[in-house]
Amino acid sequence: MYLKSLTLRGFKSFASSTTLQLEPGITCVVGPNGSGKSNVVDALSWVMGEQGAKSLRGGKMEDVVFAGTSGRPPLGRAEVVLTIDNSDGALPIRYTEVTISRTMFRNGGSEYAINGQTCRLLDVRRLLSDSGIGQRDARHRRAGTADSVLRATPEERRGFIEEAAGVLKHRKRKEKALRKPMRRRAT
Ligand code: ATP
Repeated sequence: MYLKSLTLRGFKSFASSTTLQLEPGITCVVGPNGSGKSNVVDALSWVMGEQGAKSLRGGKMEDVVFAGTSGRPPLGRAEVVLTIDNSDGALPIRYTEVTISRTMFRNGGSEYAINGQTCRLLDVRRLLSDSGIGQRDARHRRAGTADSVLRATPEERRGFIEEAAGVLKHRKRKEKALRKPMRRRAT
């Protein structure tokens, strides 16, 4: 499984439809200050269901919609489309290619779709939860946030590694199971 392409339309500084082809082996986005690198990372988190405006460096969620420039009027909606190659079947869905999209209107909530079918945020989360990728994925990081990994305590670092390796969900399930009281077998 790998991220195949990312399309941004009206998302932050990407007023015109822009598609990034993410071939295997691409591990970072470089460019001059203010060119929109972090907006690309924000778009990835957003399409995977990020709910916190602050995590996306905004005051409110509508701030992700292109706000306009001196030469271009603001837009009314933002859309991000993420295409994931699933030929190894890592995602629990019977498609070799999976497209997740999120659309938001300036005056309303978000709409999600998986392979063009409207769905709930919960469906997007479920689809991604077993894959090790998600809106808080440790593998997608802005330059500044790499620092938080380097400064992390051993416990936090263990969390990052477990999340990236996809074992965090198993630990959480085990903890949940251990919390449940043992049921007596009926005689
Ligand atoms: P840096 O090197 O400083 O981290 P960067 O390349 O990561 O910069 P970003 O922070 O992704 O750049 O992009 C910043 C640019 O995006 C700024 O010019 C900002 O005005 C613009 N921008 C952010 N949100 C919006 C929006 N909603 N509408 C229009 N432009 C926006």
